[in-house]
Amino acid sequence: QGDVNATSVYSEKIRENFPLCAKNLMGGLKANRHLRYQARQQLSFFLKGIGMSVDDALQFWSDAFTSGGNMTTEKFNKEYRYNFRHNYGLEGNRINYKPWDCRTILSKPRPSRGEFHGCPYRDWNVDKLTLELSQGMNLTPAQVTSVLDSVQRTEYTVACTKVFEITHGGSTSVEVNDQTHISHPNLYYERSRQFQK
Ligand code: SF4
Repeated sequence: QGDVNATSVYSEKIRENFPLCAKNLMGGLKANRHLRYQARQQLSFFLKGIGMSVDDALQFWSDAFTSGGNMTTEKFNKEYRYNFRHNYGLEGNRINYKPWDCRTILSKPRPSRGEFHGCPYRDWNVDKLTLELSQGMNLTPAQVTSVLDSVQRTEYTVACTKVFEITHGGSTSVEVNDQTHISHPNLYYERSRQFQK
């Protein structure tokens, strides 16, 4: 930690450790130069959890929202700055919010069109998920089937853990047990960082 700032967060070295929910949020932010409330909260807490400081967070969100020229820095400061400072416990009731775990993420209202919060293993349709697993992540057809089996059983964190296991060490057996089960996006990130070292 300490190496995640407003710029490095876009680097391959950092991003390749993101679980699919965080990739999805970053993709939505890039495409729309904006994220709606639930997605802002989900990504903001995730980034806080991976060590982004409040100053870098303000820089990161300001850059992302204003980069297309759709929004001025003044508007950002007026309408959004408080929200992100609040998430770091610097405004209002000054609660030190924790990054959301998968259970919290899955308990929120599902994303509607144009929204990017939630868990892609639950919220993406089979075609989109299959494409991501096979082409984005290079899973074999058998591995894709195994992940989709878990999705069908509504075991989304198991599906995600399988993806982690497959893409970190390329294990062909995709056993998920208490030791390996990932139930928090920040745990996914931490484990992946460990693996990188
Ligand atoms: Fe993110 Fe958890 Fe879904 Fe994985 S299972 S994509 S970490 S919400």
